[in-house]
Amino acid sequence: MTTGWRRLTVGVVGGGIGGMSVAIALRRAGHEVTIYEKSDFAGEVGASVSCAANGTRWLHEWGVDVAKGDPVVLKKLINRDWKTGEPVSVYDLGDYEKRWGYVYNMFHRQYMHAMLKESAMGEEGPGTPATLLVNHRCKDINLQTGKICFEDGSTAQHDLIVGADGIGSTARRILGIQPEKRPSDSSCLHANVSTEDAIKAGLVDYSQDSALEYWGGQEGKWDKIVLSPCNGGKLLSYYCFFPREHGDYTNQTWGAESRPVEELLQPYPQLDRQVFGHLAIGKEIQPWRLWVHDPYPYIQRGNVCLLGDAGHPMMPHQSQGACMAIEDAAALGILFSPRYFSGDIPQMLAVYQDVRLPRVTKVQAAAAKAAYNINERIGFSFNKDIPTYKVEDTKKVLTIEEMNAYDMYKDVEEKLAAKLGSPYTDKFICGLPIGLELPNGIIIGASA
Ligand SMILES: Cc1cc2nc3c(=O)[nH]c(=O)nc-3n(C[C@H](O)[C@H](O)[C@H](O)COP(=O)(O)OP(=O)(O)OC[C@H]3O[C@@H](n4cnc5c(N)ncnc54)[C@H](O)[C@@H]3O)c2cc1C
Repeated sequence: MTTGWRRLTVGVVGGGIGGMSVAIALRRAGHEVTIYEKSDFAGEVGASVSCAANGTRWLHEWGVDVAKGDPVVLKKLINRDWKTGEPVSVYDLGDYEKRWGYVYNMFHRQYMHAMLKESAMGEEGPGTPATLLVNHRCKDINLQTGKICFEDGSTAQHDLIVGADGIGSTARRILGIQPEKRPSDSSCLHANVSTEDAIKAGLVDYSQDSALEYWGGQEGKWDKIVLSPCNGGKLLSYYCFFPREHGDYTNQTWGAESRPVEELLQPYPQLDRQVFGHLAIGKEIQPWRLWVHDPYPYIQRGNVCLLGDAGHPMMPHQSQGACMAIEDAAALGILFSPRYFSGDIPQMLAVYQDVRLPRVTKVQAAAAKAAYNINERIGFSFNKDIPTYKVEDTKKVLTIEEMNAYDMYKDVEEKLAAKLGSPYTDKFICGLPIGLELPNGIIIGASA
């Protein structure tokens, strides 16, 4: 399609899940990548992170050794009654891999991060291993020259700069974006429970379900417990949501001393006693700050772009934050590959924005809705025949088809053609096949 490919030096600001992913993608596309990370990773978060098929597919495409992340492959999504623990809505993932080609992984964040880091920096696989410079906090970026200034006074110069520096992004501020944000109406405390401890205490062994399990979340309530098994099932990672008036953690940061277990249990006097028993033996109880950001108007300028939480922070309720960061990385990997890279970096970043902003904005909005209504969550949105099923607008629910039938190559080609003013004739719209019927009755390409 193009002949303008050249090897770029790329500076990635932030070495989290998104930063490592884009380092792999751009390394595979033939570029020389340096990652600048403000910390030394000593305080990495000890919690789960899920990776549905739309994220997992890129890990395989890049040749990441997924087994090193020691994931639990999810078999079900289970929504349980708040008081009795009885299943209310179950979404079976038994045919998930057959339908979508890839599994739904649940990782421990530290393992996932280590797995990605090894792929980004290791000798194995195509491309030059990325370089990681820790204790490099980005302070400024010159958008004209591509010069990055770090807090310690050192500088670096790159052709392309990716701001993957998370929700509090410095790169975003330098691009001139001022987030419209507000604290979420719900708060979250996270706790880890070892499966071995739960069994010793005579409690249910939830790891046997290989499921992402939810208590509550129906009928507009903020109270919700989310259980995700990780580390091959040895660790149960609990996200415990409750109304903010029962505890405000909006200005707390992760990594402080563990909160007392009484604080974790206090909002839940009526919770199912089994899961309550699990929480009672919870360790490393940490608040997770929740801020709602409105979508940003743009995510690139010149030779600089944003990726992951820096470009589109979202509520955790669709479990898609990490997947969206991985998809961003994949989009950059495709656009800067020999097949598509015209040699014009700003043009490629403009197409990156056209590909990514509509998709992440939709997921962002759906994640905010699923915060107080689990029926809006991908998967559960399909289970219409439960008595409490109610969604704001059936036509707008996020479906598993939109996430997993998405073909990013087609989306890139469509947006690239639009940018170049050339015709696009493939039977796809925004990466989805024309004629695909979604469970909410929408048919891709049919007029409303
Ligand atoms: C506890 C927890 C649980 C989560 N669970 C899930 C889940 O189950 N499913 C899911 O999809 N998502 C989940 N998420 C969200 C998901 O982890 C994020 O959406 C995803 O990690 C985004 O990655 P990122 O690389 O954009 O940001 P981050 O992972 O935040 O990484 C940003 C990196 O940039 C570095 N940095 C920041 N500022 C600078 C600077 N000025 N200079 C240099 N470096 C800088 C930071 O130190 C950090 O390493 C969870 C998040 C948390 C905190």
